[in-house]
Amino acid sequence: MSVRDVLTFGRYLKRRYKKRVKKIPLGLSGFTCPNIDGRVAKGGCTFCENESFSPNLARTKKVFLSPDSKENPLLDRQLQEIAHQYQATAGYYESRGYEAFLAYFQAFTNTYAPFDTLKRLYEKALIQPKCVGLSIGTRSDSVTEEILDYLVELSKDREIWIEYGIQSVFDTTLERINRGHDVASVERWIKKSKDKGLKVCGHLIFGLPGESQEMMLTTVQKAVEWGIDSVKIHPLYVVKNTALAADFLKGRFTPITLEEYIDTLQKAFEILPRDMIVQRVTAGIGDSTLLAPKWCANKNAQMRAIRAALAKMGLRY
Ligand code: SF4
Repeated sequence: MSVRDVLTFGRYLKRRYKKRVKKIPLGLSGFTCPNIDGRVAKGGCTFCENESFSPNLARTKKVFLSPDSKENPLLDRQLQEIAHQYQATAGYYESRGYEAFLAYFQAFTNTYAPFDTLKRLYEKALIQPKCVGLSIGTRSDSVTEEILDYLVELSKDREIWIEYGIQSVFDTTLERINRGHDVASVERWIKKSKDKGLKVCGHLIFGLPGESQEMMLTTVQKAVEWGIDSVKIHPLYVVKNTALAADFLKGRFTPITLEEYIDTLQKAFEILPRDMIVQRVTAGIGDSTLLAPKWCANKNAQMRAIRAALAKMGLRY
């Protein structure tokens, strides 16, 4: 059997920049999500650990931005956080052979702030040493034409990505996880982003409540049809202090098993085109906040099992 390399994000960046490029995650004060602050809903997605359920987060984060905020008292702090977080992480990876970096606005909804603030923050990230671009994680109900057009402008000489949470293409599931937007919204804004020429990454979750394997694979198929350039896939796992944790503890939610997850992943790879950039094939959390499934505690073991399963298909991850 011939063996083919999966186009991972690292391989894609290496081909494009002829050097090793690493994504640097950033999490800034003041950012929240319309699904948490009440604009769309309160509490957020049922699996999301946020200040609605976590007293510690509620105590430490007092000021939150929204697109309607008249002023941003946190701007100086946010700019400092970008430089500090970026440089600390870049320094670590430089010592391990990485030569360039992509600033990844990861935590919460990173277009959910006044437009002027977003521009200042993105531009601050872009002037960091050896920064080749940005990746912006967001929700389809929190982008505007103005933001997308600005990102298109930036993308003329930078590597600019926008990452949308798709999770599932079934409204019943999105309602069940309190996602706060429907499938039509994600489809509309992904297609709009693609029409404008932006690079789009879609986040998918396997093992959402009530979903069969057929539904998970339909989500993969639809996301491909919408034109995403890249995909991140992970299993739904339960952390403490979430609505999902309450469901799990009452026996109302059964997590996906490792065997089911890997089988679904193998079938997903049969759907994904060869030029799909695969950024993630699993996720886990190796601390005491994880309730279930326990196999999500050990990322290395997961990766070993996934790599072995993909190797059987002639794929090298
Ligand atoms: S969209 Fe993201 S930040 Fe917002 S509630 Fe859902 S998981 Fe949490």
